[in-house]
Amino acid sequence: MLLLYEQVERERCREAAHARKGKTVFSMITVDTRQGKRIAIISQSELCDPLDTGEYVRAYCHIHGSDHQRSLSINRATGWGHCFNAACEAIVLVAEWNPRIAQRLIHPHGGGASAFFPSSYASQEKRAPLFYQPVLLRPTRPAPKWQQDELAALLSLEKQMRAALLHSRRARAYLEERGIPLEIALATGVGYLPEEMLRLPEAKGKWEVLHRWAERIVFPLVSLAGEGYVGRTLWGWHPGMDENAHKSLLDRPRRPRRWIKTNPAGWFCSDLDQLARKLILVEGAFDRLTLIAAGFQATEVVALVGTAAPADWFPPHVDTVILALDADEGGREASNKLADRLTREGFDVRVHLPQQEKWGKDWNERWRRMGDQAIQAISDVYVEARSA
Ligand SMILES: [Zn+2]
Repeated sequence: MLLLYEQVERERCREAAHARKGKTVFSMITVDTRQGKRIAIISQSELCDPLDTGEYVRAYCHIHGSDHQRSLSINRATGWGHCFNAACEAIVLVAEWNPRIAQRLIHPHGGGASAFFPSSYASQEKRAPLFYQPVLLRPTRPAPKWQQDELAALLSLEKQMRAALLHSRRARAYLEERGIPLEIALATGVGYLPEEMLRLPEAKGKWEVLHRWAERIVFPLVSLAGEGYVGRTLWGWHPGMDENAHKSLLDRPRRPRRWIKTNPAGWFCSDLDQLARKLILVEGAFDRLTLIAAGFQATEVVALVGTAAPADWFPPHVDTVILALDADEGGREASNKLADRLTREGFDVRVHLPQQEKWGKDWNERWRRMGDQAIQAISDVYVEARSA
């Protein structure tokens, strides 16, 4: 049965390849990116005899018509793949595995999700042999029980944490010394979890998962997998203490970690659907608050907080990404990698590397020391992108 299926499948691939050589257009769509790369957006039903090898799926390449080697290798989680055949080297994207990117590449200027799959996809879909498809679905692993409990406990305290930020003299002093107006912190959903909150009736039975969040400024995170939090500890901080002195205090052994996150984590930003068309990506939560305090809209700035920038998180209307990461070695490296990937994925990418490292490596530090002058360059880049 399997042999017979394989024969039929190979036959189908061969026919498809021949048809392609005869210039018959199949459902595949090719898109040329701004950088001159050609990407073949294909449907999973076009994959010839795919073999699941874990992270990657291997298939005969129907683009150059190979029928003796599975030269097409596709990352199952991202949908991106390429052909190893030196004469082909096709770059492919499997549309169903990364529908947002496929949609962006096909309709670079928006267009609803329903407009995504052209009718040829639908007809291919019907022809797809159904029984190999389940193997190709993305695996989703649920978070361990304690992480689920931790997230649920934090969610249940969200209102109290916001009220605590408003009422805690210490948390307010900390924000003030970092130059963040309280109203901006409150408007972006920031809260605080004071030690006393662990004794509230609402926190009963949750000490186990909550105690590591005590004394932390808590930022809400969003992701396609759901809500999450990241928390910055104020342990050992006292008013008047310099931010860098606090950092080095926390860097010593057996100190609370400066930042902790839930699972899922995510970005500190407005709801994904609300994001502006042109976005500034920064590294830290305080960098985002800084740029908002300096006049940017909350919907214009995304803090990655250590979470990669999976392109399918961006809503389809986002067309420009300005990378404004830290001015240190790590920030530069991350900028380059991210710029490469996001460009390939169809975004207009601009990299802004601040020239004022001597005034501090991140936006918050430079802003505290230089004032509005620290923000001028990124404002110019943003205005230029807006008018492009
Ligand atoms: Zn090929």
